[in-house]
Amino acid sequence: MVMRSLKFWASSLLYATLLRECHAQQSDASIGSELGRQLSSDASIYFPGNDLFNNATARWSQYGKPNISVVVEVANKWDVAKTVKYATKHDVPFIAINGGHGNIETLENVHQGIEIWLHKLNSVDIADDTATFGGGILSHQVIESLWAAGKQTVTGVCDCTGFLGPALGGGHGYLQGRHGLIADNFVSLEVVTADGKIRTVTRDGPESDLFWAMQGAGHNFGIVTSVTQKIYDVPGNGVWSFVKHTYTQDKLELLFQYLNILGWNGQRVDVMYWATISRDAEIDPVNPIIDIFVLQEGVETMDPTVSQSFLNFAPVKTVTHTGPYVDISKWTEFNIGSRACDKGDEGPQIVRFPLNLKSYNLEALRSAFNAFAEETVAHPDFEHSTIMLEGYSNQGVQAVDEASTAYAHRADTILVSSVIIFEQETDRPAAETFGDRVRDILHEGSGEAEKHVYVNYASGDEPLESMYGYEPWRQSKLSALKRKYDPENRFGFYAPIPAAGF
Ligand SMILES: Cc1cc2nc3c(=O)[nH]c(=O)nc-3n(C[C@H](O)[C@H](O)[C@H](O)COP(=O)(O)OP(=O)(O)OC[C@H]3O[C@@H](n4cnc5c(N)ncnc54)[C@H](O)[C@@H]3O)c2cc1C
Repeated sequence: MVMRSLKFWASSLLYATLLRECHAQQSDASIGSELGRQLSSDASIYFPGNDLFNNATARWSQYGKPNISVVVEVANKWDVAKTVKYATKHDVPFIAINGGHGNIETLENVHQGIEIWLHKLNSVDIADDTATFGGGILSHQVIESLWAAGKQTVTGVCDCTGFLGPALGGGHGYLQGRHGLIADNFVSLEVVTADGKIRTVTRDGPESDLFWAMQGAGHNFGIVTSVTQKIYDVPGNGVWSFVKHTYTQDKLELLFQYLNILGWNGQRVDVMYWATISRDAEIDPVNPIIDIFVLQEGVETMDPTVSQSFLNFAPVKTVTHTGPYVDISKWTEFNIGSRACDKGDEGPQIVRFPLNLKSYNLEALRSAFNAFAEETVAHPDFEHSTIMLEGYSNQGVQAVDEASTAYAHRADTILVSSVIIFEQETDRPAAETFGDRVRDILHEGSGEAEKHVYVNYASGDEPLESMYGYEPWRQSKLSALKRKYDPENRFGFYAPIPAAGF
């Protein structure tokens, strides 16, 4: 395979030399001869102009797209370590890529970088109450392999994001009410740090400080080549029920007052929802509409004490499903083949402006709704944008001591994002103004001085404390760890934390 890689290298280099400047050509030559020789026989190197390069660099959103000049398709942890060593020696930026769904603006700071393509690291090894997964595994591969063994664990809700991309920022999902965040379920991680060392870190091991950092600020510290995760027996027969109700805008206050009541009463561990505000001209040609998605675990028919209120608010449309946990992504359109899994070299720019809340201020929500309505009329290019409001159950998240991981915002129960979708680069400033406008209205309405955001949804303009916590000890601990494990900021492209003293 190295021979194949070198052949690739030879033919691709010809193409590359025509396209890129002298500096880049030299690094291509060096990658082929110096790095290519060190990699395992299943690893490959791809340059622009190759279909596999295009596949490896395809993105869900063109916003937050790193600029890649070479892809190293690694086949084991040693390939990762050697590529990191090569890149640091030659001072070439590098970025690990798993599901390709990251869309924070800081990823655009990768210029002529090496992509470390992790997808071949997708091994699965299931034991009784833990499973070990390769660092390039996708969410659906985790869900399906565990399901076949009668097991489950917390994952993100979308089949085709990486498992670890979400996990390294905490990782929200349907099972978090029972078991906490994805990162709360780490047992051990094998991590390649900036010095090229392969370290195994655990909560109580010698590098427990790095383990702590990986649970919420992990993108800043290394590349996870494998993770051992707590897993659980699937309860009962693994059945779930789902309902999606669509409402006209006049129901906004009623609906969110009810969602507040669900939250104030201590949201049930087996019931979760999310809602969207978006445009659907077939339902309402003038105003945005509201969709509410509700899931209940363990039942074929949703509990009437939950479902009846939503019906009482007179939806214009209702869709229901019942079936096994593994089918949820089809009902919610987060499955392979859905728009949520569509990736390409071109396509829309999608950026979120997230905010965490503890409850809905109905007046602020109406103002945010009006702002959304105005902006999507003033800029028809933004018509596919949405406001997303996620209320997963939270008992498992809050059961974990907040200081025990780098994930800082456990008391927040609602994740809201304005998700702005546009095509033209020239629309970017207006998109950012739109996204911030909606977020600022909701933040002001929350009455909170601090602006908490979920790092994995961040647009890139948020201050560090918003993402990693306002407590001064968190800031200094993370900066000190950055200095210890990544003083030269090699992992400086995803919501980067500066190293102490720099
Ligand atoms: C459609 C959609 C659904 C989503 N659903 C959820 C959800 O349910 N829950 C949730 O918490 N978040 C969710 N997110 C947000 C998600 O957590 C981030 O977009 C995340 O960055 C995606 O990771 P990825 O591997 O797919 O992306 P990539 O672009 O491949 O990676 C994103 C970042 O993670 C780093 N990274 C990835 N793998 C590794 C690794 N093995 N070691 C070290 N660094 C790594 C990359 O270097 C990069 O900096 C969703 C996003 C989208 C677009």
